[in-house]
Amino acid sequence: MAKKDYYEVLGLQKGASENDIKRAYKRLASKHHPDKNQGSKDAEEKFKEINEAYEVLGDAEKRAAYDQYGHAAFEQGGGGAGGGFGGFGGGFGGFEDIFSEMFGGGFGGGGRRQRVVRGDDLRYDIEITLEEAVKGCKKDIRLSTLAECDTCHGTGAEKDSKVETCPHCHGSGRIRRQQGFFVSESVCPSCHGSGKKIEKPCKSCHGDGRVQKAKNLSVTIPAGVDTGNQLRLSGEGAAGENGAPAGDLYVVIHVRDHEIFERDGSNLYCEVPISFTQAALGGDIEVPTLEGKLKLKIPAETQTGKLFRVRGKGVASPRGGYAGDLICKVIVETPVKLSEEQKELLRKLEESFDGKGKHRPQQEGFLDSVKNFFSNLGKH
Ligand SMILES: [Zn+2]
Ligand SMILES: [Zn+2]
Repeated sequence: MAKKDYYEVLGLQKGASENDIKRAYKRLASKHHPDKNQGSKDAEEKFKEINEAYEVLGDAEKRAAYDQYGHAAFEQGGGGAGGGFGGFGGGFGGFEDIFSEMFGGGFGGGGRRQRVVRGDDLRYDIEITLEEAVKGCKKDIRLSTLAECDTCHGTGAEKDSKVETCPHCHGSGRIRRQQGFFVSESVCPSCHGSGKKIEKPCKSCHGDGRVQKAKNLSVTIPAGVDTGNQLRLSGEGAAGENGAPAGDLYVVIHVRDHEIFERDGSNLYCEVPISFTQAALGGDIEVPTLEGKLKLKIPAETQTGKLFRVRGKGVASPRGGYAGDLICKVIVETPVKLSEEQKELLRKLEESFDGKGKHRPQQEGFLDSVKNFFSNLGKH
């Protein structure tokens, strides 16, 4: 099946900015998140597609490779771990490999593929609140995965069964074939790489050494994580065949949108409405932070849209270092539901202004611009 263009998946054009990509990803991932679309296969597919696209476009190096080579940049020559996610396995650390393969890795391949059949890597998507992302948290997760069979403890054999060396591959688990110049190597079809021949396979797992089981895990999410960050839990993926090592579990973070704050990297943004009297006269206003309210002094003659920076009330990076800032944008509110008396006071205030625009710097500037515009029009 032809793969969809990653930009198309995120509804973007090639050349979209980093911020556009991040925003599109956040919006779509939230919309198609499995938690919100219980049991919908369509949403699940879509969700996987979105994540796959973001894993590439959200990473400058991978994106550059994709822009140049398209999907071919991430196609791995089979045999890798991470089946079931369509390219997911290739997304992690496989990048160097892909390039050495593409550009003259050479023939013969001196033993590159001599690995045991490790269990699959798994992926778990978790949604957390902004507060949890900023402070860090512990989450209990439950997933269904292939785990070691309790009956045979991963050997795949019944207790009294004889276990012999596989006669097909002589215990190596691999079959080498010579075809002309080329030597190809593959997993032994007889023992599936275990190198053993089991007389009586275990009844619980049919000789595989693994069974599907639900697993509970407690995941510690470090403070400062953001949407798209991944935690690797080594060895918590699917168990390997016949006692081979387990794969890894990747927990992918999704931070839910917050009612008040918007986050951009280590900074938080919020809008704070103030009255026009406060804006004109100045004074203390209350602004929200993630740890509670804070007093902020605003000067007299503050215009709407002005930004105030509160140092250190943003988010610290999970790699340590200083926290970012909280940036408050004040919005001056027009008073509503005025009584006759209040309206009269405002009219008096208006009359008290001398009409030359001294009290309205922006309007004065604007009117000048309009005047210039029309007088320039006349000259043509
Ligand atoms: Zn078993
Ligand atoms: Zn064999």
